[in-house]
Amino acid sequence: MTAIITYRPDAQKTPGLYDRILTYKILRDICIRVTGQDDFNIIRDTSTYNKGRLITIEYGGIKSFVSLSEVSVEGRNQSVQSIPTAINLYYANSNPNKALYYYFMPHKGNYFTDYHLFYFRLLKTAGVIFLNLLDYYPAGINAFENVDELIDERNDNRETNSSNNSSFISKTSDKVQIYAKTYGASKYESTLLAIAVAAITDRPIDLYNICEQDLTRLPQSSLNTINAIGNIQIHDTSITLEKRIFINQAKNNEFRSPIYQRNLLQRLGRKHCALCGCEIPEIIQGAHVWGVAEIARDDHFSDDIKFNHAISGENGLWLCQNHHKLFDSHYLSFNMDGHILVPSNLRTEDGQFIRAITQNESLDNQIITENFKWYLSQRNSIRDYSHYQRLVI
Ligand SMILES: [Zn+2]
Repeated sequence: MTAIITYRPDAQKTPGLYDRILTYKILRDICIRVTGQDDFNIIRDTSTYNKGRLITIEYGGIKSFVSLSEVSVEGRNQSVQSIPTAINLYYANSNPNKALYYYFMPHKGNYFTDYHLFYFRLLKTAGVIFLNLLDYYPAGINAFENVDELIDERNDNRETNSSNNSSFISKTSDKVQIYAKTYGASKYESTLLAIAVAAITDRPIDLYNICEQDLTRLPQSSLNTINAIGNIQIHDTSITLEKRIFINQAKNNEFRSPIYQRNLLQRLGRKHCALCGCEIPEIIQGAHVWGVAEIARDDHFSDDIKFNHAISGENGLWLCQNHHKLFDSHYLSFNMDGHILVPSNLRTEDGQFIRAITQNESLDNQIITENFKWYLSQRNSIRDYSHYQRLVI
């Protein structure tokens, strides 16, 4: 049987690119790796340019989609930006017998930075098969086994490269959340994250698309892919939209903001209680220092500025449910150095309980920025803490 390899010779900006880089040797190599034999015919499809750096191979009733790497690794995002398009074309194809592959072209530059390795793990988790990875990266790449592992790795990646902060994943007791930007170079990444997370969780997924000003939805092809996977609900939000909700709801303390959650993830990393170190994401919450209802009631600022305070990642910290409730009920507070304060007249038993569940006597320096202190001063100016004393564990 003869395989049929179809490719589009033109790239969007470079006519004839694929005629030049897809040599007979490379096509033969791909054919052998996909079909196990080297007999193939080529169809050059000139109807449009090559989206997704993609070739298809039809053989034995199976349609294989092979996404090709760049031949030169330049910008980090640019080096992988065609892959989600290839994934969308794969999902859009109606043939039930299909497979999705990735093939490393001979390339200049490093395709195995921490960022790329994370990205390739996402691809593997999403079900993409690497045809020749071991030729370039003998250690191999493993799929993520569960969402916690993915969250950890994302966080490590974030710490080693602070600009790599476009999307975040977290969990609550019944769902997984993906906070994704739909603008800039990483707008397609959220689709890949959603596919990968869906492959390793049974929980429903909330995908928050966070836009800059006006709602700019994900591209239709990405929406189609997400719908095909199921189990993922897309919530579009924008700074403009959240601002409107804030103005209407903040005074009742009903304002819930995905952007605030995202900003906390960006500033403080994965959910972990600042006071006891608990890392169980299901019971960790973002705690406002200067509360939303207090911000709304403050007459010194315009609505725009109030909103910015309400969503600022510096106006908050991660606390477990116990510590959050104790903080909001004023069983504990912080002085301007970040030391924990408790009421001087606390019942002995209550003091013992708070000491038993608290590991740190003060907040970590990473939390206490100048802006954080300003929010703390706003909080502490509303209430009299003169009868509080430092907690000694
Ligand atoms: Zn705690």
